[in-house]
Amino acid sequence: MATSAAPVHDEADPYPLSQVYPLGSRINDRGHLEIGGCDTVELAAQFGTPAFIVAEEDLRARARVYRDGLAALHHDSDVLFASKAFPCTAVYRLLAQEGLACDVASGGELALALAGGFEPARIYLHGNAKSEAELQQALAAGVGHIVLDSADDITRLERVAAAAGRTQEVLLRVTPDVAGDTHAAISTGQADSKFGFGIAQARAAIDLVADAPHLRLVGLHCHIGSQLLALEPFTRAIEALASLGSFEVYNLGGGLGVPYLEHQEAPSISSYLTALTDAARTALPSARRLLVEPGRSLVANSTVTLYTVQTVKRNVSTWVAVDGGMSDNLRPMLYGARYEAALANRMRSAGKGELCQLAGKHCESGDVIVRDVRLPDPRPGDLVVTPATGAYGHAMANNYNGVPRPPVVFCAGGDARLVVRRETYADLVSRDV
Ligand code: PLP
Repeated sequence: MATSAAPVHDEADPYPLSQVYPLGSRINDRGHLEIGGCDTVELAAQFGTPAFIVAEEDLRARARVYRDGLAALHHDSDVLFASKAFPCTAVYRLLAQEGLACDVASGGELALALAGGFEPARIYLHGNAKSEAELQQALAAGVGHIVLDSADDITRLERVAAAAGRTQEVLLRVTPDVAGDTHAAISTGQADSKFGFGIAQARAAIDLVADAPHLRLVGLHCHIGSQLLALEPFTRAIEALASLGSFEVYNLGGGLGVPYLEHQEAPSISSYLTALTDAARTALPSARRLLVEPGRSLVANSTVTLYTVQTVKRNVSTWVAVDGGMSDNLRPMLYGARYEAALANRMRSAGKGELCQLAGKHCESGDVIVRDVRLPDPRPGDLVVTPATGAYGHAMANNYNGVPRPPVVFCAGGDARLVVRRETYADLVSRDV
């Protein structure tokens, strides 16, 4: 797999699918979208909508490209699944099976990673506001590394480690003052950030850790942002780390962008890994061990969301409203993120038809999943698909308007299995006391 996403299709196929669909997706003889060999119309009938449909082989393929690609470029290396992107036990389990390590950003993600079968020693705990309880939980679990994010974090972890009679290996998160071209809300490498230490502050932080008897600083971490479609900011960030001295371990973060639209170009995973390792070889000669922690580029294109059209209304624009929306995909509302959409039950007409506003069911005018998308004569009961929803979809799902969160269905080789069931109304009141 050379590029970041490429569904398999016959060269002569008159109805090729956009690159953003999961690997192996196709349009079947009935004109229906197939994911992992499963007809999405049948999936909708079996599991209901909205639903997250995951192509298991796509997840595995991308994990292998990352794992084998980095290992070939740098002998002592590891790929960490940035699990905030898709914190679902079955996804943790699959990526643990594929030999990845794991990045968690809270006690909850740590609990999920352990439940998903990650070895504690291969878990890295992040967080700009870790609580004492989360640090205790990490030490009790035997988490391999904790990424320190502030002076308070350093003193708190030293206290917790001393009380536990443990010495904890740590990395220090640095913000290298490199901002990639992405939405401000997901840019994290700028100097004025809530994450990590600026270069100027990092030196004092390194000394603070050196003076902490129960902490052992093994290296530095940096993550400059998400959905980055150019490689140059990554290499500038690596160069900036060099000014902080020599370390054995460098965690170069995640952030590689993916195509959400048919003609959007994203660097391939292999070119990204080559750029990182080349830059590290030159700028960080002491780096014995290199880590990367992709989220989005591992999981985004593995998954599609299925919705059912409920209403079609013509109020100046044509408003096509479905049974989900900002409760299963917040990204369009948070970042103006763009998606494709098509009718999964009439895929041969994808990209054709009337210009529509694909709206959700929630009580906000901003609850629009895709603006200005062509849908062929949409009608209530049609099945809508939005591809590339594997990253930060399930992760940020919520119960706005009392809408139960969708199920997650894994598909492979024509078999579908439910890995997360749909929430019920009983779940909605299950925390009441
Ligand atoms: N690492 C850290 C520290 C992050 O904060 C994030 C995302 O916020 C990631 C990795 C994953 O980023 P992405 O999903 O863009 O690869």
